Amino acid sequence: MAGGIYATAVPCLKCAERADRIYEGLEDDYYRCSACDYEFGIDWASAGAPLKPCWPISEAEVTERRSWAAHVFGTRSGPNADRASV
Ligand SMILES: [Zn+2]
Repeated sequence: MAGGIYATAVPCLKCAERADRIYEGLEDDYYRCSACDYEFGIDWASAGAPLKPCWPISEAEVTERRSWAAHVFGTRSGPNADRASV
């Protein structure tokens, strides 16, 4: 359930590369990035399930997400298991 068929892959929250769903829950789905191995959960229950495929994303969205990630994560490398939401 959770994000449904359009949420099988999403952009990584950290590097904006493709992250594939590794666990599908009732409200949260969990993803692992194919590029940086970052793991994160998305709470679709509060965000709302996507109405169109989450992947691929446009170059503009990649740029936007990377600048957001730089703001959120900074340049330090922290633990990989923290949660985040879209
Ligand atoms: Zn990544």
